[in-house]
Amino acid sequence: MSIKTEVFDVAIVGAGFAGMYMLHRLRQMGLTAIVFEAGDDVGGTWYWNRYPGARCDAESLAYSFSFSPELEQEWEWSERYAPQPEILAYARHVSERFDLRRDIHFETRVTSAHYQDDSLNWHLETDKGHSVVANFCVMATGCLSVPQLPDIPGVQDFKGNFYQASMWPHDPVSFKGQRVGIIGTGSSGIQAIPVIAEEADHLTVFQRTPNFSVPAKNEPLDQNWVDEFKKHYRAHRENHKVGNGSGFGDLNIEPREGPIEPVLRSQLTDEEATQILEDAWESGGARFMGAIGDQLMNEEANRFAMEFVHRKIHETVKDQETANLLCPTNHPIGTRRICVDTDYYETYNRKNVSLVSVKDNPIEKITEHGVMVNGEVTELDTLVLATGFDAMTGALLNIDIRGKEGLLLSDKWHAGPRSYLGIAVSDFPNLFTITGPGSPSVLSNMLVSIEQHVEWMIDCLTHMKKKDLKVIEAQPQAEDRWVSHVNDVANMTLFPKGGSWYLGANVKGKPRIFMPYAAGVGAYREVCDEVTAKDYEGFTFH
Ligand code: FAD
Ligand code: NAP
Repeated sequence: MSIKTEVFDVAIVGAGFAGMYMLHRLRQMGLTAIVFEAGDDVGGTWYWNRYPGARCDAESLAYSFSFSPELEQEWEWSERYAPQPEILAYARHVSERFDLRRDIHFETRVTSAHYQDDSLNWHLETDKGHSVVANFCVMATGCLSVPQLPDIPGVQDFKGNFYQASMWPHDPVSFKGQRVGIIGTGSSGIQAIPVIAEEADHLTVFQRTPNFSVPAKNEPLDQNWVDEFKKHYRAHRENHKVGNGSGFGDLNIEPREGPIEPVLRSQLTDEEATQILEDAWESGGARFMGAIGDQLMNEEANRFAMEFVHRKIHETVKDQETANLLCPTNHPIGTRRICVDTDYYETYNRKNVSLVSVKDNPIEKITEHGVMVNGEVTELDTLVLATGFDAMTGALLNIDIRGKEGLLLSDKWHAGPRSYLGIAVSDFPNLFTITGPGSPSVLSNMLVSIEQHVEWMIDCLTHMKKKDLKVIEAQPQAEDRWVSHVNDVANMTLFPKGGSWYLGANVKGKPRIFMPYAAGVGAYREVCDEVTAKDYEGFTFH
């Protein structure tokens, strides 16, 4: 049977926030677009990651779309950090409000995307047999959308209940009366552990590397505060876009004027620095990492913050041996994504929770009945994996993407991702990546970064339409310059010392390259705007 090929202006892969917003803007431009999504609903991250305790670590009023003043006024968030079901409900609301679903093919995975040298367009195929030709292909495949299973022997042998944080079932899961084990103490594990501990008979946490976590200080939102904040929403949104920060904004009702001037460690006495950290700890959230302006640049400032958190762990956790195990010492604070928790350290004071360090004695295997460490099996009814993602490049390289003359993206990126601005790749004309490697992406409030990328791409497509240009391609020299700039910026920070998924360090055989751009969302936006102003400097059109 021959497959009918459909033709569109743009094909989009992924229907998380990035794919949804791209579709909306393309429609406004009058272009035809089709979206393919592997899941059976919109929402991406918030569709897949339904584990107990999942919520955002950016404040709800900042972690939301800003493109529609009506949408931001009408949507009501219930808590300072929205829980996963509420963010998913928001994504669904957006899809309905802007009538997006009719162009999205759910439960459909794009398997290949090939550039056609003769017709100068993209040919995509899916696992459901679609064949689509589009002038442009937009990858909205997500930075954290490919679950990473640990290479522990026997994972498939476990006979009890088995869950992965990033592929959580749709139906409710009960831990009542059960012996539960969890592997993974990154952001996902740290959010899930306190909630599972509340319900399980016993919870055993298998920890290889402790992570730094700061209290979220989550709470229900006060309606008066929300009403006042929303009166200034536009100005707050503008603030999220500027400076060298990460787009998280602040909680002040009155919008600040211009970017925050960082206070450096060298300008502070020990007492002043401690007080600043104490205030940040008390007000809660990831903003702790920016409390002292050079915490992520200066080893001494970082050590000061590390020791502060170590003290907090020791003050919170009663058993000092457990507290010691929970204190990270192998990476500067913040060089692995800072975790934001509710009662994480407090959970280790519960009688039904035990911590097993598998740092020096790695998990040998998973058996039918539990997890074996040091020859001993901890018997479990339920095993939860929160072992992370093949981040940033995983979803792109899972697709057979071929550019000019059949060049495979996986070959081009064999030594690590190379991209101009994290938006485009030389030799892959008319292909855009939303929050691709080389852009602030995972170091930022992702909604801010997604909107900025989509808007830049829409401006570019509008320019091409106006000038009747068919093809845009990143120049290899511009790409080289950008890649080395991204590396230079990373090397000015402590990030490369983190050994984290930012570097690909959690995936065996993955090249070690610091993938996101660390200069902040404002600085990055300025670069992108300058590229546009200079007639798309670094790109070639024809
Ligand atoms: P995603 O939401 O990942 O969507 C990508 C979609 O593409 C997925 O639905 C996937 O199924 C689909 N897809 C991928 N490949 C294919 C294919 N070949 N064919 C078809 N479909 C495909 N960021 C923040 O800024 N703040 C937070 O608090 C925050 N919390 C997070 C919590 C968790 C648990 C995780 C995992 C990430 C979190 N992030 C957070 C990052 C989060 O990924 C982004 O904020 C944002 O949701 C990304 O949206 P996206 O549309 O770019 O990608
Ligand atoms: P992660 O940070 O990569 O953590 C994975 C965990 O699994 C690590 O503790 C890792 O230990 C452990 N692990 C992996 N293989 C193991 C093995 N063989 N034995 C023992 N332990 C093993 O993944 P994540 O927690 O899913 O978070 C990923 C990112 O998603 C976050 O950094 C964040 O950006 C985002 N996220 C955000 C939130 C939020 O707060 N809003 C929540 C969840 C996720 P090692 O460190 O030793 O490898």
